[in-house]
Amino acid sequence: MRYINETLQTPVRYECDVVVAGGGTTGFVAALAAARNGAKVILLERYNFIGGTMINGAGPLHSYFNLYKAFPGVEKIQVVKGIAQEIIDRMVECGGSPGHLEQEIGGDYDSVITIIDWEIFKGVAFDMLEEAGVKVLLHVMAVDVMKEGDAVTGVIIEGKSGREAIATKVLIDTTGDGDCAAKAGAKYIKMHSSTTIGMPFGMCNVDMPRLLEFLEENDMVNQLIRGKKDIEGDDVIRLGFELKKIPIFKEFMEKTGMWGPLGFSLHGYNYGYINSASLRGIDTTDTVTYSNAEMTMRKQVMTFAAMLKEHIPGFENAYVNWTPVSVGVRYTRVIECGHDMSLDEIVNCARFDDEVMLYGFHDCAPRIMIKNGGYYGIPYRAFIPNGVEGLLVAGRLITSTWDAHMSTRNTVSCMAQGEAVGTAAALSAKQGKAPRDLDVNLLRDTLRAQGVFLG
Ligand SMILES: Cc1cc2nc3c(=O)[nH]c(=O)nc-3n(C[C@H](O)[C@H](O)[C@H](O)COP(=O)(O)OP(=O)(O)OC[C@H]3O[C@@H](n4cnc5c(N)ncnc54)[C@H](O)[C@@H]3O)c2cc1C
Repeated sequence: MRYINETLQTPVRYECDVVVAGGGTTGFVAALAAARNGAKVILLERYNFIGGTMINGAGPLHSYFNLYKAFPGVEKIQVVKGIAQEIIDRMVECGGSPGHLEQEIGGDYDSVITIIDWEIFKGVAFDMLEEAGVKVLLHVMAVDVMKEGDAVTGVIIEGKSGREAIATKVLIDTTGDGDCAAKAGAKYIKMHSSTTIGMPFGMCNVDMPRLLEFLEENDMVNQLIRGKKDIEGDDVIRLGFELKKIPIFKEFMEKTGMWGPLGFSLHGYNYGYINSASLRGIDTTDTVTYSNAEMTMRKQVMTFAAMLKEHIPGFENAYVNWTPVSVGVRYTRVIECGHDMSLDEIVNCARFDDEVMLYGFHDCAPRIMIKNGGYYGIPYRAFIPNGVEGLLVAGRLITSTWDAHMSTRNTVSCMAQGEAVGTAAALSAKQGKAPRDLDVNLLRDTLRAQGVFLG
């Protein structure tokens, strides 16, 4: 490899209390929480919308509730509240979500799921950030950090204005990939080989009632919710089925590693979200690998969609009308922090004196379930990287074992994590303390006052 040396003179264009790098599932809520606690906040995002994988790859939001349907007699408990719930209230108010829906079939996977309209969410997210006074910079990549000794003092961005620096008291890395934490020298491991990336897609003109009828006749449905939609005659909202029961699909799906599919439909005759495509062991922190994966997955999706159209009743007149801006990435860098949640702690409902959120869903249910439909806590130290000051991390990058990550990485967990780290960052900045030195009881009291459920 040949190297060149660059001499850079970078303008310090902004100064603030808290920078949130990555305006996705976690970063959106972190920015809101920090700003509402009095911090001057800048939120950085590489795309043109806020919400990240939650509205561009993930399906229903898992989960605000415990898994009560898998355990007869267990009480239904809303485990995640706070800003995460406020987002749903706002979405319901403007017709962007039917709210929390109980599963008719599949209640032992997730008892209640929550679906939002992604285009409506994009507007609601901007409104909420504007109301909170967050400065949003879109189309920028966080490419490096500024440091004094062990402490992060700023972040370097690149966008259409070129290369610029932002000085900050606290940096929150919610890039999913730990881009800033890695640049800051935090220790990490890479976990892509333990799982898959995906490319969900949407199809229009699907006769959902006809599709459901066919699937029911052939005993293929494994997840179902019906409800009121915006059109007469179509009430299928959540739909998952076992396509491998059909030999031609079994062969293609096993060859490619595809599964399911699992999906949802919020609008008439639109199967807006179909999650099935899959590719194992892809390191999306490598540009060439990431690019090649995009091309491979797109072929997988288009072949699969053509097969649905040809073989499955209901899809006769359907066409693909949505694919995500990026393949859906599940697992890349995991940043070493003061605590690493284990599967044992998750399934046995571990609680911690310094916990800042609770959560009650596991994505492998009913195979792996949290004991008795309970919930567990995540301690504040799980978000503080070892050996680096002025930095917090949260989202899909905090848990280093796949079977534990299958719980902590889910959207509603990420939103609760965001509220915890955003609040912590603002309190730290206000007190002139490193996040590590923040009084965790003050943080917990503040979160409770904001409506966060801490048991
Ligand atoms: C295919 C797929 C299906 C899934 N299905 C579900 C589901 O049904 N239900 C569920 O609850 N969860 C699901 N998940 C998991 C869940 O969606 C994610 O784990 C979660 O959304 C991750 O949140 P995050 O905040 O860590 O990352 P993200 O939401 O991905 O946010 C990271 C943000 O940072 C931005 N960014 C990245 N790097 C930079 C940079 N250097 N500079 C600036 N911006 C940057 C990104 O553009 C993005 O907006 C799914 C995941 C995938 C991949």
